[in-house]
Amino acid sequence: MDLQNVDRVLLRPEIAALNAYAQGRTPSDDGFKLSSNENPFNPLPGVLDAVAATNALNRYPDGAALALRDRLADRFGVGTAEVHLGAGSVALLSQFINAAAGPGDEVLYAWRSFEAYPGLVVVSGASSVTVPLLPDARHDLDAMAAAITDRTRVIIVCTPNNPTGPIVTAAEFERFMASVPSDRLVLLDEAYSEFVTDPDRVDGRTLIGRYPNLVVLRTFSKAYGLAGLRIGYAVGPERLLNAARAAAIPMSVTDNAQAAALASLEREDELLARVAEIGARRDALRDELIDQGWNIPTAQGNFLWLPTGENTAAAADAFFDAGLAVRAFAPDGIRISVGEPESVESVLKITKELVGTLRKNPRTGQLG
Ligand SMILES: *Cc1c(COP(=O)(O)O)cnc(C)c1O
Repeated sequence: MDLQNVDRVLLRPEIAALNAYAQGRTPSDDGFKLSSNENPFNPLPGVLDAVAATNALNRYPDGAALALRDRLADRFGVGTAEVHLGAGSVALLSQFINAAAGPGDEVLYAWRSFEAYPGLVVVSGASSVTVPLLPDARHDLDAMAAAITDRTRVIIVCTPNNPTGPIVTAAEFERFMASVPSDRLVLLDEAYSEFVTDPDRVDGRTLIGRYPNLVVLRTFSKAYGLAGLRIGYAVGPERLLNAARAAAIPMSVTDNAQAAALASLEREDELLARVAEIGARRDALRDELIDQGWNIPTAQGNFLWLPTGENTAAAADAFFDAGLAVRAFAPDGIRISVGEPESVESVLKITKELVGTLRKNPRTGQLG
């Protein structure tokens, strides 16, 4: 289309300047997609059967989703009203940010963290305030507490942090919460919770009912392998969830997604065995990378962070040419999802070639 005057149509300038969310690259046919932290396993047979049984495609989904919310409420020890579902937890992040922050307000989070946060904040009309990660790629919660102002409305804590990998510990988080005014909404984004093996980790499930301003966000996209169906959930005080519900697009969570999530919870043992397998693969891969000379932060999700620094774009291309789609965050580093067992050898082959080409940072003595 070549329409005259389309440039004159009035848009919010900050939205017109915003790029749409960039999805992870897709590799060549026989390659591996390690760019979106997806689960490499196919859904369990029982999950597929449950989805096939929800066939009323001419009807809107059940917006109340009571069966699934009851189920989740049971495991978190809360009432059904204290569970809210979204079409992925990104949808929930958007709802909570919109519910609490608008023009003139601030949303505070660590950086580098989840790449969806900045765009969601722009759409809300609020401003992002970011606090750099510590040198070991963990949240600097003291600096985040110090960055709270009168205008702060939402604080997002991502653990394990996407894309760098480390967790926030329970002790750190409790100390942080003690310094956050109780009238500011805190979102604990635990998208990778099921992959965490460190016993010192913060676990949102143990914090429910302790803070009036805390909402825990989880998803079925990663450990449960349902990224294609878009379903996540929030657990927290009913009044806060009601505000998110008011900011939601109605009936976005399909019956297919609800059925798949319920069936996945039924088969949780099998799913969590797969998660343990991915966690073991992650730890083995990290050990090998460290042996090659890489400086890899602790990894508690289903992904690893390579601090490729200025060489990020070239390094990502080297992976891509070898059939490995990874996620490049220039000029910081590359995130590699822990995928199929067959992908590991190819990853290690490329990292071995790359490690010699990287310069050491003179300040830290580390790569990248
Ligand atoms: C993947 C991810 C999510 C959620 O993704 P959905 O598919 O929308 O549920 C949320 N937060 C972080 C940090 C993630 O990496």
